[in-house]
Amino acid sequence: MAVTEPAPAALPGAHEHILRRQALRESAARTYARSLPIVPVRARGLTIEGADGRRYLDCLSGAGTLALGHNHPVVLEAIRKVLDSGAPLHVLDLATPVKDAFTTELFATLPRELAERGRIQFCGPAGTDAVEAALKLVRGATGREGLLAFTGAYHGMTAGALAVSGGARDVRVTRLPYPHTYRCPYGVGGERGAEIAARWTENLLDDPKGGVPAPAGMILEPVQGEGGVNPAPDAWLRRMRAITAERSIPLIADEVQTGVGRTGRFWAVEHSGVVPDVMVLSKAIGGSLPLAVIVYREELDTWQPGAHAGTFRGNQLAMAAGAATLAHVRENRLADRAAVLGARMLGQLQGLAAEHPCVGDVRGRGLMIGVELVDPEREDLGSGNPPPPAPALAAAVQQECLRRGLIVELGGRHASVVRLLPPLTLTDEQAVAVLDRLADAVAAAARTPHPRAEPGADAPHRAGAAPSH
Ligand code: PMP
Repeated sequence: MAVTEPAPAALPGAHEHILRRQALRESAARTYARSLPIVPVRARGLTIEGADGRRYLDCLSGAGTLALGHNHPVVLEAIRKVLDSGAPLHVLDLATPVKDAFTTELFATLPRELAERGRIQFCGPAGTDAVEAALKLVRGATGREGLLAFTGAYHGMTAGALAVSGGARDVRVTRLPYPHTYRCPYGVGGERGAEIAARWTENLLDDPKGGVPAPAGMILEPVQGEGGVNPAPDAWLRRMRAITAERSIPLIADEVQTGVGRTGRFWAVEHSGVVPDVMVLSKAIGGSLPLAVIVYREELDTWQPGAHAGTFRGNQLAMAAGAATLAHVRENRLADRAAVLGARMLGQLQGLAAEHPCVGDVRGRGLMIGVELVDPEREDLGSGNPPPPAPALAAAVQQECLRRGLIVELGGRHASVVRLLPPLTLTDEQAVAVLDRLADAVAAAARTPHPRAEPGADAPHRAGAAPSH
């Protein structure tokens, strides 16, 4: 939709009052609401309209949920159809035509082995519920307890999902190095750094004195989202597949954020051709409404009836909205569009990095893009390390974006990565508007001095953000 449409009638006074009441009533854990003091009253596509009468381009997209942007007509139509049909809205895990259609559409998008011989479990409504189900599934199927997870990971906020996320310490979880080109722990980056990380993993698992008993599974994100937009090289992902397959360790791909076209393929594992044993899916599969599932190889289906249950697993509106979203992305080849537009935007952002030394790195895959802010004056030139992260500057960029009517997310170990997760329906014109505003915001923030991060300091705690340690 055009960025220049007239603003709607504001709700005079409501904006401040609502924000004040929120601050008084809601928990101290509230997060997005702190950095984005917006009171959305209407939204369509990329645009959110606030109660203050302002319009914003939304590149947060419900933390990557809104593949088609806000209130896409096909999503609204699907929801209305269910409402008008008189179908029950709550059915536990009973079969319904709506659920049948959703499952059929989802299976049509999956890697062939999973589509043909996979099982689906509808979980509680959030991504974290599906992660819990995946961990429980592989533990039950293997009879083992330990898990392999990665540095910088984010899988959710419930106990098990948190334990496999990067900030947690849990004796049952072995932490492995996730490849990182810009901040490579081995100082070499790229394919070479990923190769060393894979070797480390392989050696550790085979070392009888490595301290890692045979694990129940390995969980990874094909592109780390909250961890700062870190795409795993395809060769590394194939190595993880080979390492786990050779040792009968189920591989769980958490595609909660990377799924449904976001990275330029329908599922991010398709870039490497890897077929995981379990896929964890949520966010965009519900077409803006809560829905979470796991899909897994039937051999893992050792659950007894009722082994995994829950009241809210039959959200008919979410299934209808989700099926419409999946079909729309597939029919309109929006994954291809995300690949092309994302590559173009990354190219333009490289230009921004060339102009501003405080833009240390620009990376991403498809329409999952990260811009890492750094403190170039503190670069230790002899060390070969990149300059330290600049979280205060990143927060300033986010605020300058907001002033210019652009909503962006922060992520990464130190909350120093500005993240763009625009809808896959983003037009060329909108992409230009987003990048113009971001470039202006970076220039404005770079002109102002900001407090420096102390080495090793944690990121401020944010919803959906990796608890950064
Ligand atoms: N896994 C990944 C990769 C995620 O990005 C997220 C959410 N940001 C989750 C799991 C958890 O999803 P939810 O917030 O819906 O519980």
